[in-house]
Amino acid sequence: MSGQQYDCIVIGAGPAGLTAAIYLTRFHLSIKVVDAGKSRARLIPCTHNHAGYPDGISGEALVRLMTEQAQKYGASIVPGRVTRLDRVEDGFRAEWGGGSVLGRTVLLATGVTNRRPPMDEALHDDALAKGLIRYCPICDGYEVTDKKVGVIGSGGHGVAEAVFLRGFTEDITLIAPDKAHDLGAEDRARLDRYGIRAVDGPCQAVAAHEECIVVDTAEGHYTFDTVYPALGSDTHVELAQQVGAALKEGVLVVDSHQRSSVPGLYAAGDVVLGLDQISHAMGEGGVAATTIRNDLARERPILREHLSGSIAAKAV
Ligand SMILES: Cc1cc2nc3c(=O)[nH]c(=O)nc-3n(C[C@H](O)[C@H](O)[C@H](O)COP(=O)(O)OP(=O)(O)OC[C@H]3O[C@@H](n4cnc5c(N)ncnc54)[C@H](O)[C@@H]3O)c2cc1C
Repeated sequence: MSGQQYDCIVIGAGPAGLTAAIYLTRFHLSIKVVDAGKSRARLIPCTHNHAGYPDGISGEALVRLMTEQAQKYGASIVPGRVTRLDRVEDGFRAEWGGGSVLGRTVLLATGVTNRRPPMDEALHDDALAKGLIRYCPICDGYEVTDKKVGVIGSGGHGVAEAVFLRGFTEDITLIAPDKAHDLGAEDRARLDRYGIRAVDGPCQAVAAHEECIVVDTAEGHYTFDTVYPALGSDTHVELAQQVGAALKEGVLVVDSHQRSSVPGLYAAGDVVLGLDQISHAMGEGGVAATTIRNDLARERPILREHLSGSIAAKAV
């Protein structure tokens, strides 16, 4: 471990962590970014709802551009999954396989992971790249307008996703993932009212062609233009738990300035309850970075040394 104590350790380099890194370095603060390389944004073949890109942009390209921007201002970004976060005197220590680092503050921007439907992993990734599997109707429901859509899910969550997607197409089938549907009367009535079919599981996506995906169910094979898994997600809060930060329903609790219940620990992006969108993650990253700067300045004023002599001489 280097003896240096950074102003902030940013854990996670997706849209939230990278936006914060850009702000923090431009505030002339010292930061270390540690990233496990699994940003959900990098799975996006082409986003069309992110403002500023009328022809869309791939998530990979967006993350690359944000990384370049953060590095341009001096952000040091190292690969690694932080496995241990501890409170130490005057800050925190983060540890990962390749090293450890000290920071006065920590920003958790560790995101979530979507639960995947039962299917071969390579087939899943191929289908995702082709838009045959999608995870975010808010992001890309528009792209399935008037198409044939399957939703893999059950209970109230599955029904809600299917009804949301009904705003884009009238051809929706809700497939139970692992057994027969067990829907209450109210959920059944909602499906009937909106003309959504309910098909029993267990199900498994078995083939992805250029323009359609085939799902094997307890009621036979179904072919769809796109399938949305609605199986929930796992939020990466383990590090927050290690330092005793408060959670609510499995999600980190923060105030309106992105402060967690632990002084010096902040969080932004999908790891916090919110819209789970790039724009939201970026907004929270900016708010968190500015709060970190101002909280640090309250402890110790952040004052730029007056540029004198040598710089002026260079300009002459
Ligand atoms: C298929 C798909 C399509 C989507 N389409 C859109 C879209 O069109 N428009 C839109 O606005 N949103 C879209 N989203 C949602 C968007 O990707 C997320 O809301 C956004 O990426 C959240 O940013 P984040 O920085 O909070 O988390 P992430 O981008 O997930 O980044 C979190 C980072 O933290 C790292 N990390 C986690 N734990 C650790 C650890 N312990 N140590 C170090 N690093 C760690 C991860 O590896 C990852 O790199 C889509 C999501 C998916 C899955």
